[in-house]
Amino acid sequence: MASFTLHGIPVSRGISIGRAHLLTPAALDVKHYLVPEERLEAEVVRLQQAFAEVHRGLQALWKDLPREAPTELGAFIDVHVLILSDPMISEAPLDIIRSRHYNAEWALVTQIDELSAQFDEIEDAYLRERKQDIQQVAERVLKVLMGTELTAPPGTVDVDGFQPQMIVVAHDISPADMLQFRDRSFIGFVTDVGGQNSHTAIVARSLDIPAAVGMSQASRLIEQDDWVIIDGDAGVVIANPSQLVLEQYRQRQVMLQKARKRLQKLKKTPAVTLDGTPIVLHANIELPDDCPGALDNGATGVGLFRSEFLFMARGGQSHHIPSEDEQFEQYKRAVVSMKGRPVTIRTLDIGADKPLDQAEHTALNPALGLRAIRYCLAEPQLFLTQLRAILRASAFGKLRILIPMLSHAFEIDQSLGMIAQAKAELRAESVKFDATIEVGAMIEIPAAALALPMFVKRMDFLSIGTNDLIQYTLAIDRVDYEVAHLYDPLHPAVLQLIWMTIEAGRKAGIDVAVCGEMAGDVKLTRLLLGMGLREFSMHPAQLLAVKQEILNANLTVLAPRTRKILRSMEPHDIALAVEQLQSA
Ligand code: PEP
Ligand code: MG
Repeated sequence: MASFTLHGIPVSRGISIGRAHLLTPAALDVKHYLVPEERLEAEVVRLQQAFAEVHRGLQALWKDLPREAPTELGAFIDVHVLILSDPMISEAPLDIIRSRHYNAEWALVTQIDELSAQFDEIEDAYLRERKQDIQQVAERVLKVLMGTELTAPPGTVDVDGFQPQMIVVAHDISPADMLQFRDRSFIGFVTDVGGQNSHTAIVARSLDIPAAVGMSQASRLIEQDDWVIIDGDAGVVIANPSQLVLEQYRQRQVMLQKARKRLQKLKKTPAVTLDGTPIVLHANIELPDDCPGALDNGATGVGLFRSEFLFMARGGQSHHIPSEDEQFEQYKRAVVSMKGRPVTIRTLDIGADKPLDQAEHTALNPALGLRAIRYCLAEPQLFLTQLRAILRASAFGKLRILIPMLSHAFEIDQSLGMIAQAKAELRAESVKFDATIEVGAMIEIPAAALALPMFVKRMDFLSIGTNDLIQYTLAIDRVDYEVAHLYDPLHPAVLQLIWMTIEAGRKAGIDVAVCGEMAGDVKLTRLLLGMGLREFSMHPAQLLAVKQEILNANLTVLAPRTRKILRSMEPHDIALAVEQLQSA
């Protein structure tokens, strides 16, 4: 097979070498997990029983057909019964379960996808249309399977020594789908579309799995089971590599692993610059389960808990809005897991590329639409429920509330009003909470960075969301790979807005953090330190590398050089000077 290389956008660092697993949008909607040897036959039986149930259902349908029903209806049921009995449907997925250890849903969808591809090649239009019947039959079986999952999916890569090392190749993956891959059997992700700071990319990064997006034709060019190398640092994907190339990447992989191991030694070292300035290093998390990983990487708190991931639809299930009690349990779990360290919960940031439900994703221009705090203020009951849950959890450790996407003073006032209302309700119910809980604002809309007095007057702390700040300042959709080359954290306008925010916080005596992806980029650590940033929040996997930069940084040298950079409006000079800061 001919080797070829694709270039796209690097998303998550490291190198992965594995077999391609192509996922169609339909396949993304079902659960994927590997079934251990001893449960294989039970999984086979589960699928057989689902076939039998659909079969019974179709027969019942046939029997109940009213006399006057058109004959096509009977014929249509007959076709479905025939399809269901065809060994390509009723036998092949069972073999997939046995040979590849896939769960029943995954095995069925894999087989249907293979069949669908064959049907696409057929010239005869009538036969080609039968593809739809096959898909409808598969949907019936999947529906039955959904209700019969035997146990929780095993969250492990190694199933009885069976380690498939699969790399997902898909046209697109939603953030919620990406989250589904947590603890599953995939070692890398490649998608045709997507931007570097899309939420899908952010979740891949938080899973600490090499990924590359914006690969344009990858899902068309790469074939099932092709060998694939992902270079997550360069955004390069090599399909069917030669032995020589494979060997080179294996060596690089080993070197990277060794470097990571060396960094582990810094876990307990306090993050202090050479001149003795302490720096706060917090973690960004999506779910409370991320807390142990954050602690393992030496996080001294959580600077951003993206609470919307508790709300987003997963794997074909309809979306579920967690109740106050459910949310309370999750927030409490996070704060208890962090063992006394502060946890900053960002209130629901739904909308844009994180719709509550993919099916309801209809906004004309979602990034400018009813997103985050706008959504919450339009749904006050939902917001109040979340605030009550956060406040209740604040009785169990140090919690902070962070409000996303604020731009208007009345949004700040309304948010604070809602928090006051939630407190009053809890007080009246004699429920304990931290009455002094701090409330902060995300600075991620240029209007906010240009109207900082409005914020510092009302808020206890600020956190700069550089991902959106860049998107909105440069008018670039962070999800759109076609404009990804224009997404520039070093654009002078972006740097000015960040600097103004840090300065406003310093003058007002309130904490300012950066929790966007810039905080975890080691190439920018010294620049941010030089700008006066003292609090960074990032993916746990980046914490130790950033700490290493901090330990080698001298603020007395960095500050004057950074001021010079901030006076420049020449992108080339800025890029060069930032690079030179690395050796300052
Ligand atoms: C940001 O915008 O930088 C941020 C941290 O929030 P999110 O990436 O979730 O929009
Ligand atoms: Mg944001």
